[in-house]
Order: sequence, then structure tokens, then C-alpha cells
Amino acid sequence: MTAETVTSYEMLRRLVAFDTTSRNSNLELIDDVQAYLAAHGVESMLVPNDDGKKANLIATIGPRVPGGIVLSGHTDVVPVDGQPWDTDPWTLTEKADGNLYGRGTCDMKAFAAVVLALVPRFKAADLKVPVHIALSYDEEVGCFGAMRLVERLAAELPRPRACIVGEPTMMSVVNAQNTATTFFTTFTGFEAHSSMTHLGVSAIHFAGEFIHWLNVVQDEFAARPRTDIDLVPPHTTINVGTISGGTAGNILARECVLLWGYRTTPGEDQWALERRARAWLGEVLLPRMRAKHPAARIETVSRSAIPGLMPEQNEEATQLALAWSGGNRTHAVPYGTEAGIFRAAGIPTVICGPGDIAQAHQPNEFLAKSQLAACEGFMDRLIDWARRQ
Ligand SMILES: [Zn+2]
Repeated sequence: MTAETVTSYEMLRRLVAFDTTSRNSNLELIDDVQAYLAAHGVESMLVPNDDGKKANLIATIGPRVPGGIVLSGHTDVVPVDGQPWDTDPWTLTEKADGNLYGRGTCDMKAFAAVVLALVPRFKAADLKVPVHIALSYDEEVGCFGAMRLVERLAAELPRPRACIVGEPTMMSVVNAQNTATTFFTTFTGFEAHSSMTHLGVSAIHFAGEFIHWLNVVQDEFAARPRTDIDLVPPHTTINVGTISGGTAGNILARECVLLWGYRTTPGEDQWALERRARAWLGEVLLPRMRAKHPAARIETVSRSAIPGLMPEQNEEATQLALAWSGGNRTHAVPYGTEAGIFRAAGIPTVICGPGDIAQAHQPNEFLAKSQLAACEGFMDRLIDWARRQ
């Protein structure tokens, strides 16, 4: 294979064409990237998941010395199921409005596309410290890939100085982010004919009470907004993402499962709300269910937990990213990213990438084409810095 020169635009088209919805394997994309890197003389290491159907990729350009920069992105995207798209989500489509449409254009294949397209520039630059490319799987379903990726990266690479997670921030520097924690809570009631409500316990009705309780708690948070941090919305948020249960219109439902979670603001106790919810479920709701039938149960299991990002821990990464982006201030974001996982491994990390989070996860997701050039400018300044170290 000869080393191809590919523009960021062409590389984005190539990455978008892989349907890497989190439920699918990402290996076709990873194999393509690995072959592309190999053609440019860049070796990469794969870190697979348990069943081998997905993999993270780690590649280093430059000397294997400490003090390098990790450029991190996730390869998976959220589903397009049921969304009204005007164009094929897997075909990058440029429109007259200057936007590039396609699933993953903004969240977040554009960052990887720019990094990969610039591989020849990184190679030619005689870097004094390395650039590490880190591509993960399963970010959108709980950052499961990044946990393995960061473990391997921390174990096998010379200690990096900073990590840039290229989630969409319109190339502004984000150094504070919320946590993200999710749970499955299973309500088990007791089936009865729906006319005989005194004989059974509807799991759905009690799950509904829990949802109501979550709404009340959410209103409490909203009534006490943070004023010390620039964050929208300025409080912890709660969401019930899915609900399933029941079998028929005339049966009290035996089971109801909620997938729910919350995002605490930077610096808040990530686990306080879990403790509070467990206490309310166990001490208030369960006794009421059991009063109707002793077989009733409520079980809550942890599904995912992404650490947040506190601003003051990231001094150097922040200064570097501000210099490379040309920005003069930092921002906070309410969504969780893989940044907290790198940070938890002791790697100073900030978020800075092309695209606007407002377009993420939407039908007709798009990237303003000018964001590709903005991200290339960031990388050029990074290269300049890395060759002067
Ligand atoms: Zn993302």
C-alpha cells in the first residue's frame, strides 16, 4: 500500500461511511485506520474488548519519550433509528449552507479525521516529543472502551504531558465537565387481573412514583443554580432514558425497568444522589410496595459512571490548548466525556474539538466546514510547539 495524502474533508467522508453505531463492531473503521497509518510508517496497537468485536487503537508518532500529547477521540456514534434524516447519514453531504451533514460529523469523527489527515505533517515535523493518537469504542454507551484504552496507554507509553479530547466544543477549550452516572432500576411487583388492584402490585405504577420523585429532586437542583461556574444548565440534571415493563392492558405489571441517570456539576459529590435515591427507594417506596404484597422488590444496579473534570487540576494542558486554539478563556460543559477517565489516570486533560455539541445526536447532524480548518490550525500550532521542545 502506498501512503496516500488525504484531506481532512476526504478523511471525514471515509470515517463517516463506516456505520459505527455503538451496537456494531468498529473493526472495519479501525482496520482501515490501522492500514492508513501503516502506509505512513506509523505502527499502532489495538486494545480489543472482551469478545474481540471492537477495539481501541493507540499509535505514536515521534520519539518514544515522556512529555507527549495524546489526541483522543471515540469512533462510535449514536443510532439514527427513527430520526428524520434528509440525507443518507452514512454519506458525507456538503450543502450550500457550508455545512457537512452525516452521522458523526460533529460527534466526533471530524477530530479524528483532521488528526489522521495530518499524519504526514506530524511525520515530517521532526517532533521532539511524541503525539499519541488514541481512538476508542463505546464512548456513547458509557465510555467502556476508554477505560481499557487509558489503562493500556498509562502502562505502555512514556508518560504524556497532556491529553486533548476532541469532542465538539467549536475549538474552544473546555476544562470543566459534569460527571455522568447511569443505573438500571428494576421494580418487581405482583401480577393480578387489572380489576383486582387489591391483590397485586403494579411495578409500573411504583416505577412512576420513582420518576416523579426524580422530577421533584431535579426541580430542587434547578432552584439552587451554581453561580461560581459558567455552565448551562447550571445545576445537576436527571434523566430517565428508557422504561420498559408490563405485558397487557388488563394485567398489573410484574416488572418495570428504568434506565436512568444524572450528571453532577464539577466538584459536586458524584455519589450523593445515588445514596439518596437508594435510601428513598429502600426506606419509602419498597415498604409501600411490600405492604401490598411481600414478594415486591426493587433492585438498582450501576450501569456506568464517568468522572467529571475539575478546572484547577489541568493547568498545563489548559495553557497549551489555549495557545494552540488561540482562545483566551476556558469553558465548562454539562456533558460527560472521556476526559475524566484520562484525568483520573493522572494525565492532564482538556476538551477541544471541531463542531457544536448542539448538533450532536440529532437528525441531520452537521459540522460547519470551517471547523475543519480551525482544527487544522490548532494541530499546526501543536506541531510547531512539539518540534521546539
Ligand atoms: Zn462524543
